Amino acid sequence: MSYTYDPENIFAKILRGEIPNDTVLETEHALAFRDIMPQAPVHVLVIPKGAYVNYDHFAQEASDAEIIGFNRMIGQVCRMENVSPGDGDTGYRLIANAGADGVQDVPHLHVHILGGRGLGRMLNPA
Ligand code: 5GP
Repeated sequence: MSYTYDPENIFAKILRGEIPNDTVLETEHALAFRDIMPQAPVHVLVIPKGAYVNYDHFAQEASDAEIIGFNRMIGQVCRMENVSPGDGDTGYRLIANAGADGVQDVPHLHVHILGGRGLGRMLNPA
């Protein structure tokens, strides 16, 4: 497995502060911000600060601290955005697109947190 990270991708520019973002939460290892074209009332993107193209790249090469920090932030944002069923809220969906079949537009790992309305079944028919 080998990936080449493009440092000119849009999320790398956001991390460098070259492009503004609507930040929800920031920690040492991860950043959560609102999607610029929201698909649901809650649509937050969570990204690691490290240079990882997608989830399998991250899972293989990130440190334990990065992996824990990233994953804990996803849960924290679900609670902050009031979509956590554990808090009596109505739920959410996590999506991490990768590659061509996954239709990944931005080549920096990101998890979409979607909620605030019924999201339908998991996938549209191919
Ligand atoms: P993908 O298709 O790669 O999983 O999703 C990329 C997401 O990034 C899309 O939902 C798109 O709206 C969002 N996006 C693209 N450019 C920007 C940007 O400059 N700022 C923010 N906040 N979101 C962006």
